[in-house]
Amino acid sequence: MLLEQKAALVTGGSRGIGRAISVEFAKNGADVAFFYAGNEDAARAAESEITALGRRCLALRCDVSDEAAVKEASAKVLEAFGKLDILVNNAGVVRDGLVLSMKEADYDAVLDTNLKGAFHLIRQFYSPMMKKRSGRILNITSVSGLAGNAGQANYAAAKAGLIGLTKSVAKELAARGITCNAVAPGFIETDMTAALPEKTREAAVGAIPMKRMGAPEEVAALCVFLASDAASYITGEVIRVDGGLCM
Ligand code: NDP
Repeated sequence: MLLEQKAALVTGGSRGIGRAISVEFAKNGADVAFFYAGNEDAARAAESEITALGRRCLALRCDVSDEAAVKEASAKVLEAFGKLDILVNNAGVVRDGLVLSMKEADYDAVLDTNLKGAFHLIRQFYSPMMKKRSGRILNITSVSGLAGNAGQANYAAAKAGLIGLTKSVAKELAARGITCNAVAPGFIETDMTAALPEKTREAAVGAIPMKRMGAPEEVAALCVFLASDAASYITGEVIRVDGGLCM
């Protein structure tokens, strides 16, 4: 098992990609804490799945855009596990619309959760990871952050910002044995993409060289590797999991 005796925290771990990452981490031997926004049923289901694998699980309701809440919940994670080896900034939301009609509140909400949320989390675990001179930070960005996407200016800006954040943190922490990488999924089957209109979905699948959407587990498999000791010399990297969409 690649993550034996590791302690991990996944934001947005109750559904979709974050849940798959949490479960795959647990299957690989890690104890897992996750944050969620408010869907209690999903959180309890994810928690049960992780504990059924024989791992410890801490499910905490915590809005990543709220720095005070992040501080409080992160302290609980450190108290429960005594350390944190792996941080995955996965929590994300969409509020799509064309620039001309986009409400400022929708722009801010997406930046606050998808970009500033990661900044809040990294700040909480920066010193604890530095002190133990090891750690793995993964930021879930998107192909939208690499290529842009009409109707997603807020989301693409946040995801592109996450890449700059990843590379800067990677440079700040590299000498301390801490790596920071970004994973850029394409179209993955989750609640987020289930909300897409059928026509948009068909067009998206048509543009993917592999002609299918990805499964959350296909993103999680890369995260397990990047979080493991096997990925010790990889930092500041952005890796796509997109069936060839953005090559
Ligand atoms: P989902 O909508 O399926 O799940 C989102 C998760 O994030 C839920 O667990 C949700 O909690 C949590 N969450 C949302 N807002 C907050 C918040 N403010 N604080 C804490 N937790 C929050 O999303 P996906 O699994 O599809 O996406 C996961 C990540 O992957 C996102 O960053 C997304 O941008 C990115 N991504 C997704 C792609 C896709 O095709 N699906 C493609 C590229 C990137 P709750 O259940 O309580 O609501």
